[in-house]
Amino acid sequence: MSAATLSPGLAADLAALTAADAVLDPGHHPEYGHDATAYRGLRGEPDAIVLPGSAAEVAAVLAYCYEHGLAVVPRGGGTGLAGGAVPVEGGVVVASDRLRAVRSFAPERWTIEVEAGVPTADVQRLARENGLLFAPDPGAAEQSHIGGNVATNAGGPHAFKYGVTGRAVTGVEAAMAPGELARFGGALAKDVAGYDIAHLLVGSEGTLGIVTSVSLRLLPAPAASLPLVAFFAEAAAGCEAVAAVVGSGLQVAALEYLDGATLAAVAGAYPGALPDDAGFLLAIEVDGDEEEARRLAAEVVAALGDEPLAVHAPQGRSEREALWRWRDGVSGAVAGQLGGKVSEDVAVPIDRLLEIVEGTLAIGERHGLRACSWGHAGDGNVHSSFLVDPRDEAQLERAEEAADELFGLAVALGGTISGEHGTGWLKRGQLGRQWDPAALAAQRAVKRALDPKGLLNPGKKGDPTGPSATPNPNEQER
Ligand SMILES: Cc1cc2nc3c(=O)[nH]c(=O)nc-3n(C[C@H](O)[C@H](O)[C@H](O)COP(=O)(O)OP(=O)(O)OC[C@H]3O[C@@H](n4cnc5c(N)ncnc54)[C@H](O)[C@@H]3O)c2cc1C
Repeated sequence: MSAATLSPGLAADLAALTAADAVLDPGHHPEYGHDATAYRGLRGEPDAIVLPGSAAEVAAVLAYCYEHGLAVVPRGGGTGLAGGAVPVEGGVVVASDRLRAVRSFAPERWTIEVEAGVPTADVQRLARENGLLFAPDPGAAEQSHIGGNVATNAGGPHAFKYGVTGRAVTGVEAAMAPGELARFGGALAKDVAGYDIAHLLVGSEGTLGIVTSVSLRLLPAPAASLPLVAFFAEAAAGCEAVAAVVGSGLQVAALEYLDGATLAAVAGAYPGALPDDAGFLLAIEVDGDEEEARRLAAEVVAALGDEPLAVHAPQGRSEREALWRWRDGVSGAVAGQLGGKVSEDVAVPIDRLLEIVEGTLAIGERHGLRACSWGHAGDGNVHSSFLVDPRDEAQLERAEEAADELFGLAVALGGTISGEHGTGWLKRGQLGRQWDPAALAAQRAVKRALDPKGLLNPGKKGDPTGPSATPNPNEQER
């Protein structure tokens, strides 16, 4: 693939709106042509890359692109797992790297406003250093940007108690077509004036506007967080335990699982002793003040009953951190088995968890692939993965077919094609499997109203204005 070159005219125009060093030549910066899906072969060649230094510059760039009919691809940290930030069909990549200001921070009122390019981990650190908690904890927090988290409505292990990113958002400032800045909401605990456009932008994957700044609600940090790890012989017992914990009414903070094949991939690095015959693991965390957390931990152990082979309670901060570091390493360790993986993020009602866990293995077997799953059991959000050698094109193709079958299974179980990573480019054409024609029509109407020229991240988020990439049975029936 030959590298794209930046046209001098476009470069000069964009530099006049921003700064000379804010416009990058795609030929010299291939890293802006892909996100974390590169190993699946997804790469693009933008016409230009621009790094605006302020919200006003973002709006000016959008106005220019809108006037000249150029597609705009908003980009945060490039850690997306759905290809949302990949300029598959060219266009101008508008990256948030230079939007790094903390506009306001009032710890005593639990509020903060940060620009879109502030890394997620910086917001978490700032909150922590002030006795507060920014609860969303997606896995790539050091690299992802808060604007990207808002645009994907990212989740993480502690979303079970605290919700996904959108729950922390009280306001959004965004550059909207045809190129103006608009503020929706702000540092307010309550605001029901007008349509909730802030939360329409949450999860919109850069298809409705470019987020420039976000107002967030922080929480008082819990004094104690106590993890527990329960091992089971098999998935059925583990999924019953998930139902028992949720059904008990105990509010645990995180309720994660690893199936047997995943556990095998990371067993060597587990920071503790693993029972030999463990075929399923639950990592549970409870929090609160010291007394409350200890009481909850004891009640969770009681709710698990006699099914676990063993329950391990990491002690102290370092053991707790070691456990979560190990959990963060799961995705990379699974990919390391053969060099790559096609991993999806379907979600199902939690009473169907066992079916999606077992279904993942059965789909892998049908396609001649090693498969495994892990994820956020309490949210029914499963990272079903098909292991591949990325150099083996036939294997990659089979893995994509397996992912397609997985989407069908998730929908058949009453679930969704994406619980976390978004639709992006990779799941284009899939939304019609899940939504009825009227729901799709409403989605298209929103897109047309806010992006009448269809220039904001075209082809992403199910491409609601365009034809589906794969036939949509619901639409054919219409
Ligand atoms: C190792 C690893 C672990 C991960 N763990 C999790 C996890 O636990 N939970 C989870 O939800 N995700 C997870 N992800 C996926 C990814 O980190 C999230 O989707 C994250 O929110 C993406 O943020 P980003 O800044 O990297 O966005 P990008 O990848 O740059 O962009 C993602 C999407 O948002 C749009 N976008 C970005 N910035 C803006 C903006 N300012 N305005 C409008 N649209 C914008 C892009 O166009 C694109 O559609 C993980 C990824 C990796 C690689």
